[in-house]
Amino acid sequence: MDRILTATWGLPGGHTLAVYRSHGGYGALAKALAMTPEAIVDQVKAANLRGRGGAGFPCGVKWGFLPKDLAKPRYLVVNADEGEPGTFKDRAILEKDPHRLLEGILITAYALKVETAYVYLRGEFGQPGQSLTEAIGEATQAGYLGTNILGSGYSLEIVLHYGAGAYICGEETALLESIEGKPGKPRPKPPFPAVVGLFGCPTIINNVETLACIPTIIERGGEWFHKLGRERDGGTKIYGVSGHVKRPGLYEAPLGLSLRTLVYDLGGGIRDDRPLKAVIPGGVSCVPLKPDEIDVTMDFASMTAAGTMLGTAGAIVMDVTTCMVRMATRIARFYHHESCGQCTPCREGSGWILRILEEIEAGRGSPEDLDLLVDICNHIQGNTICAFGDALAMPIRGYVTKFESEFLRHLEKGGCPFPAW
Ligand code: SF4
Repeated sequence: MDRILTATWGLPGGHTLAVYRSHGGYGALAKALAMTPEAIVDQVKAANLRGRGGAGFPCGVKWGFLPKDLAKPRYLVVNADEGEPGTFKDRAILEKDPHRLLEGILITAYALKVETAYVYLRGEFGQPGQSLTEAIGEATQAGYLGTNILGSGYSLEIVLHYGAGAYICGEETALLESIEGKPGKPRPKPPFPAVVGLFGCPTIINNVETLACIPTIIERGGEWFHKLGRERDGGTKIYGVSGHVKRPGLYEAPLGLSLRTLVYDLGGGIRDDRPLKAVIPGGVSCVPLKPDEIDVTMDFASMTAAGTMLGTAGAIVMDVTTCMVRMATRIARFYHHESCGQCTPCREGSGWILRILEEIEAGRGSPEDLDLLVDICNHIQGNTICAFGDALAMPIRGYVTKFESEFLRHLEKGGCPFPAW
């Protein structure tokens, strides 16, 4: 398979305009500016491009939610607040191929009739932000960005906005609040951002990797892109694999790669050839899969059918030396720390779960605590303003129910049976 999103990765000067142009870069922009905005949206719909930020919503359908005749500015916001543990693909795109992202932003902004686009960067993204800033300078000088782009009469301004390190600002409405200068707390929906978004105006929020796909869709056509992947998930995807594998890293493959292939072929198998214990398929908010569950294709629909999520497709691999109670405790601690505190089930439930798990890890508590943990998760899920509550409840319930015997061993032994990490 030809690499698309990662074609220039690893080349000397791969992040520069010169290398990007030598690979056909900005040809899609010139083509798009000669098309109607509606024709571009149609190509993206035909591509069956699903959002790469975790939720997997069809991109073209999302774009179609913008109101047609509202006399207000429209905004495009790029979600570059990549904070999901185990996920590092957007950072790599920003560092290694920022012009691909810029071209995707330009085509999308033109298609959506947007004159100002914001890029919301994770606060810790020093080098990725620097790389994007340099690319913006190069693109502006070359006439791809700014006023009267390539003589088309179309103009676009791009504003970079750095977050301050809060995981919740990756949630799209918290991100909008943050750009507006307010605390990053998710908004109740509806209204959805496509209608009432940034500064009260219609806004489309897309992930970095999603927008990086757009130039190829315009260059090769939506149907061509669609056929690379699955029926309902077009294109290729940057898969990540980290943890106890021999070759951790990022690998581009068509949507529908098998999780086993990612772990054992691309990832090189388990370190020291130990037995596998579990894989988190796409960031810590996903339910872990056991070794007999990894013969599943990594597309949105198949992962949902397997009782988990594709998420960001950043897999975390754990071998048999990993303590599942400790893993669940760390995840709970992370979510408790990052909860914005607006909803009682999330704010209080995350702390309650954490306290119970810390007790079990220390060998204290009773078997009934496992039922209590599941009960708390059930009361959190579906009862909060944003999906953060579900992202906590679903994996914790998964650890408790799938690895129940390991939890009970802690209680029987009066402590953790695994070595310290
Ligand atoms: Fe905040 Fe948690 Fe409620 Fe989301 S679910 S709004 S993070 S308290």
